[in-house]
Amino acid sequence: MLGAIIGDIAGSRFEWNNHRSKEFDLFGNDDIARDACFRTDDSVMTIAVADAIMKIGTDDEPAFKEELIDSMHKFGRADMDAGYGGHFYRWLLHKEREPYNSFGNGSAMRCAPAGWAAESLEDAIRIGRLTAEVTHNHPEGIKGAECTAAAIYLARTGSSKEEIKLYIENNYYPDAFKKSIAEIRPTYEFNETCQETVPQALVAFIESTDFEDSIKTAVSVGGDSDTLACITGAVAEAFYGIPQDIAEKALQYLEGEELEVTKKFVSRFCCYK
Ligand SMILES: [Mg+2]
Repeated sequence: MLGAIIGDIAGSRFEWNNHRSKEFDLFGNDDIARDACFRTDDSVMTIAVADAIMKIGTDDEPAFKEELIDSMHKFGRADMDAGYGGHFYRWLLHKEREPYNSFGNGSAMRCAPAGWAAESLEDAIRIGRLTAEVTHNHPEGIKGAECTAAAIYLARTGSSKEEIKLYIENNYYPDAFKKSIAEIRPTYEFNETCQETVPQALVAFIESTDFEDSIKTAVSVGGDSDTLACITGAVAEAFYGIPQDIAEKALQYLEGEELEVTKKFVSRFCCYK
């Protein structure tokens, strides 16, 4: 899950100021760039999912969803300026408990813990679905989370990139890999939907050469940079692991309970092979 958070932090300074190149330092190489990076809603909601999984597990599905709603309300309302989309902001603000049929990329950006806590591929898909359903119960919203959680599970249990790619094409996005990043980049625009974010994020992972390169490739696409890099980073972490220096720098952007939950989840679930 730290891979998702790193992608979010690295992409944060480019969300409204796209950088369509892989030439940049992950967190900036000077004080101004470093300070321009911050954790956004992608990290906050990923942490909320991790906390609910650790608190109650996912076996009792209705109970897990209630816990997750509470967790998302708690972490989300602690910082209403983290960058939430309009519908989700209202859902948080009014402490709503019903889903609103969203197919926004929020379901995919927060589901990394599902891929790590799962005990099988089917379990990853099931937990991914549960994490989506509390708000993003539109079929595309569920699909984005299921596919991301499945890719993380496959990556962390030794599947090759070719196997992961085939699995995604056969089960979720048949056309995902028809275009390369170089072909996507020139015309890609800001898009908050799962179906126009998840496939592109997965192409960035497949084309990457290592963890850092995966984040830079995702940012270079443009668009919703922090969320694209968050999804790419979540899968890349499971495939490559995370270099220690990058992990340490990223943790400096978290504090309080968000930091505690992240460290606890990583030490409990995220062991790189
Ligand atoms: Mg964000």
